[in-house]
Amino acid sequence: MIYTVHYSCGHDGDQDINGTPDEVIKKIKSLEKKGICKACYANKKRSEPLTLHIERFNKGTYTNYCEWLLLFFSGNTQAAREQIKAMGYQWGEMPSTRARDMFKKTDKKAWFKATRLEDLEIDLDEASVLAPQIQSLLTGIDLDIMEKHAPKNQDRIRRLKALHKPEAPDFFGGYTWNKKTYGRSIYMNGEKITLTTEQLDELDQYKKELAEYEEKARAIKDER
Ligand SMILES: [Zn+2]
Repeated sequence: MIYTVHYSCGHDGDQDINGTPDEVIKKIKSLEKKGICKACYANKKRSEPLTLHIERFNKGTYTNYCEWLLLFFSGNTQAAREQIKAMGYQWGEMPSTRARDMFKKTDKKAWFKATRLEDLEIDLDEASVLAPQIQSLLTGIDLDIMEKHAPKNQDRIRRLKALHKPEAPDFFGGYTWNKKTYGRSIYMNGEKITLTTEQLDELDQYKKELAEYEEKARAIKDER
């Protein structure tokens, strides 16, 4: 049921709360004490530095040393949203990791992706364009294993950098494209741009080159 809640930030908002009457009262009281409205939440996120978290992530196997990691962003992700998405992160509820189950300090929903320890250097190098703060829960043994993979990874990073990345059309205005066209239009930074026939051709060419580039990059990233 929808209840109007007076949040701790001083604003009112509608919130869907379910449960027994006692549970509902408890939830409302907790929201009034600690909760903040959607607008204040968004403002708070924007004021927090972009942070990339690295956690061990057991993908359900414990027979061999688990090299799976969970990477996720917190803080001001709004401005970097399209770039984060282009790096293969998805938005949604994160799978549980032991660290988060224990501390429950972060939000459940985030931009996240699973990666392997042996690929972490590549993911970090890719994310470095956003200059995020890094918060890592890796331990000594993880770092030892990373070091073992380092020579191969340095070679992969070097080859990734040597790939010719197609240059974005000028009409992107420096923003990241969400790879969608709406008729003759695209959206850049929330603004609709209607393209001329010439620009549409340019966009087609860029799409083709970008697809080729991404395929080559993926092949390098997927090397084992
Ligand atoms: Zn508020």
